[in-house]
Amino acid sequence: MTDVDTRVPPASGRLDGLPGYGRGRAGQGQAFRHRLGSNEAPEGPSPAVVEAAMAALSGGNRYPDLRGEALAEALARRHGVGADMVAVAAGSIVLLDQIVRAWCDPGDEIVVPWRSYEAYPIIAGLAGARLVEVPLDNEHRADPAAICNAVGAGCRVAILCNPNNPTGTALDADELDALIAALPAHVLVVLDEAYADYADDAGTVAVSPARRLTRHGNLVILRTFSKAWGLAGLRAGYCLADPRIVNALHAVAPPFPLPAPVVAAALAALEAPEAVEARAQNNASQRGRMASGLCALGFPVAQSRANFLWLAVGGQAAALTAHFRDAGIAVRCFADEGVRITTGNDADTAAVLAAAAAWREIQERT
Ligand SMILES: *Cc1c(COP(=O)(O)O)cnc(C)c1O
Repeated sequence: MTDVDTRVPPASGRLDGLPGYGRGRAGQGQAFRHRLGSNEAPEGPSPAVVEAAMAALSGGNRYPDLRGEALAEALARRHGVGADMVAVAAGSIVLLDQIVRAWCDPGDEIVVPWRSYEAYPIIAGLAGARLVEVPLDNEHRADPAAICNAVGAGCRVAILCNPNNPTGTALDADELDALIAALPAHVLVVLDEAYADYADDAGTVAVSPARRLTRHGNLVILRTFSKAWGLAGLRAGYCLADPRIVNALHAVAPPFPLPAPVVAAALAALEAPEAVEARAQNNASQRGRMASGLCALGFPVAQSRANFLWLAVGGQAAALTAHFRDAGIAVRCFADEGVRITTGNDADTAAVLAAAAAWREIQERT
């Protein structure tokens, strides 16, 4: 055959050198007894959520809502905002991608405290935007003064992850309000609150977006069903923002953002917000046990308000991750920076503390 030509036209140069998405359990999911690498909820969805999703499957011949309207309306009621202030997508990370594509041209700057969520550089890179990384302070917290200094005329978007992934650290409400107010109006401020349910009481979590959005037109708040709502595998996230921002996202988003069974599951989850409070309470107690146990063993543990702990072990990160792996525990390694461990159930916490104690013993012997 002479008409065979296996050459592939090259993709855009913007893709060159992008890190690509990693995975907490390094592609070996089945092997781990303790899956603490991806900040997922330890237990599966409630029977009511599963039933709602199953029931929706029978309507699978029909297209779902064009823009996920039913879910957007329920979320608008929950947060006390207009339904035109909500956009939904298959994960909040999809919305962040839409935001960056809608606001950034190649060469524009995105300011972000760093270390933070590893998706941010990928999304910035795909848009050809330049990520301006602002170092965290000595306690691994975002540094408001340094962030403001880093925002110049070329900055289009600032991303604030609060609580921050992977450090778990958070700015208090008044610090965050002051920072948002200090950022210039030409900058779209994206507040990624994937872990907000773990940081504050339920009432505060529900009303804080409306309170902030009435004061700041340049604010977008990202929330997700993946963490405290326990639906990471179903892929549902949303953003709350001025209707003009939501319209811009609709312009760049393909229609039918969510499958009907996912919408049904998310609506059923919203009917039982007490499940989230229970998860947050369980998380606080496991996180407390794990943090004090690790501190007692001499690990450098950052002050976490999320469902994970950050151990700033620097050059030991890879070896410590391998040690946990050998104990059947998946954690997330950030080479030469630290290790992030998700909180789980009693057995998970016990396993982490036992493996950490064994690590200390090995260290002391050598
Ligand atoms: C997990 C996480 C999300 C959620 O992403 P989804 O796409 O909604 O699953 C968003 N931001 C941060 C910082 C996260 O850690």
